[in-house]
Amino acid sequence: MRGAKFIVRRRGRQPGAALGPRPGAMRKSSEMPKVVVQKELCKGCGLCVDACPTKNLAMGQRVNAQGYAYVVWDKKAKCTGCAICGRLCPDIALRIYKEERK
Ligand code: SF4
Ligand code: SF4
Repeated sequence: MRGAKFIVRRRGRQPGAALGPRPGAMRKSSEMPKVVVQKELCKGCGLCVDACPTKNLAMGQRVNAQGYAYVVWDKKAKCTGCAICGRLCPDIALRIYKEERK
């Protein structure tokens, strides 16, 4: 059985449900892995951009409500779902979805 699995979750501030899709909302294996940037939580520090081994993340041109340029995820690049970006982000701004195999 396959499904989406939210693999980066930390204690403390929880991402708002309205800021990203529900973990169960993405079930097509062709959509995995997927990184969702919660733009209002991103402060544009660039840590995730530097850390991504496949260069899937880049600083975007747009700014969020706080005035920070936020990161964008390139779905066409070769994201492996390693979740390094999500673990590094100090603001819990990234959600990583990866196909779950049982
Ligand atoms: S999950 Fe890994 S490969 Fe995908 S964007 Fe994050 S750091 Fe890069
Ligand atoms: S590490 Fe987090 S806060 Fe920093 S640019 Fe990446 S998503 Fe934004």
